[in-house]
Amino acid sequence: MEPSFSQKVKSALAEAEIKKKCCRHTADDCAALGDEDGAAAALGEVYRRCRCEGCRGVLLRALFLRWGTVSDPAKSYQLDLAFRNGDTARAAHEILAECGFSFGEAKRRGRPVLTLRSAEAIGDFLAFIGATGEAFDFMNVKIEREFRGNVNRQVNFDTANIAKQLAAAEKIAHAAGKLRAAGRYDSLPAEVRAAVEAREANPQLTLEDLGKLSDPPVSKSGMRHRLERLLEAAREYESGGEAPT
Ligand SMILES: [Zn+2]
Repeated sequence: MEPSFSQKVKSALAEAEIKKKCCRHTADDCAALGDEDGAAAALGEVYRRCRCEGCRGVLLRALFLRWGTVSDPAKSYQLDLAFRNGDTARAAHEILAECGFSFGEAKRRGRPVLTLRSAEAIGDFLAFIGATGEAFDFMNVKIEREFRGNVNRQVNFDTANIAKQLAAAEKIAHAAGKLRAAGRYDSLPAEVRAAVEAREANPQLTLEDLGKLSDPPVSKSGMRHRLERLLEAAREYESGGEAPT
């Protein structure tokens, strides 16, 4: 079976090298913590002996390796430290808060659980304890989700606009067809005919892009005006009047 995301984080952490001497002392202290029920006072003691940010990282890493689990960021955002002993949970909670991590408190099957539920906070925590790659996974998933959401919104928006444009282009082609059949099309002004033919050749383009295609280029409102004149001529023809020239 594939190792879980949590297991991957833990094996990466277990292999991480501790470089500074003070931090190695912290690691030794953590290894000597002993049974959870007596660990509360010892944890506070280890924390007070921390000399640098690296030492605190090593201590929080030990908390995570022993009591922690983290969800796969592709599925959910949850990092838990699950204890048996209330005093030890409280001591850990205090240390985490001192290090700038505000874990929520929960009870699961009567046991105290400290929990982080935001991708950003979990990413920060994993980076702090040295699981940099996995921290990125959390940050990236969030960024990717937001990005995909934006792309989907953009695609929906584009699809709606294209549908609108095609309907407008069809209306133009229909009107032009009627005037051609009646022999009235060629008496339209040349710039109106040019606009109509550009529209017929490029039904998917916006008026703005259509205008840019023209030679010389025509503004969006210029294009709209020219196509309006075609529709007007078609309406006049249908009502029995004269096509404007
Ligand atoms: Zn250190």
